[in-house]
Amino acid sequence: MVARLTDGRRCGDCDAHAVARCGRCNAPVCRRHQPRLGQRCGGCEADWADDLPVRRMLQRLFAPPAFVLAGGASFLFMMPVLIALPFSIGAPLVATLAALVGFGASVGTYRLVERAARAQFLREHARALPVARVVRGRTHHRQLPART
Ligand SMILES: [Zn+2]
Ligand SMILES: [Zn+2]
Repeated sequence: MVARLTDGRRCGDCDAHAVARCGRCNAPVCRRHQPRLGQRCGGCEADWADDLPVRRMLQRLFAPPAFVLAGGASFLFMMPVLIALPFSIGAPLVATLAALVGFGASVGTYRLVERAARAQFLREHARALPVARVVRGRTHHRQLPART
């Protein structure tokens, strides 16, 4: 439709009127395609999306042990409750709480994997570059230093 668009992620302006560079792959980006804080250029974000199966696999790998460990630990922790209460009340109560704690731990593991992976993704190649800033205002041109 728009002849200028090469693929939605970058456009002719990205090369001709770059205002910034991607913090990860160092590709020049125009004002419109400039990634927001905590994001990378379209190409890099596509890489991130491509890695989704790997992250899901890690999460499936780590979530069950987290469930068992946290659930088991809270079960042990609540043993006094189990002993103090009549078994018919204590057992379902402790089992429910242990399952809840285990569930919370596995959800936490999911988030942890996601956060750690994202932090790693954003760190890649980012060391030598200044913190990305959102450039506002009229067409004020900032000359990009040549990186060779
Ligand atoms: Zn562009
Ligand atoms: Zn990039």
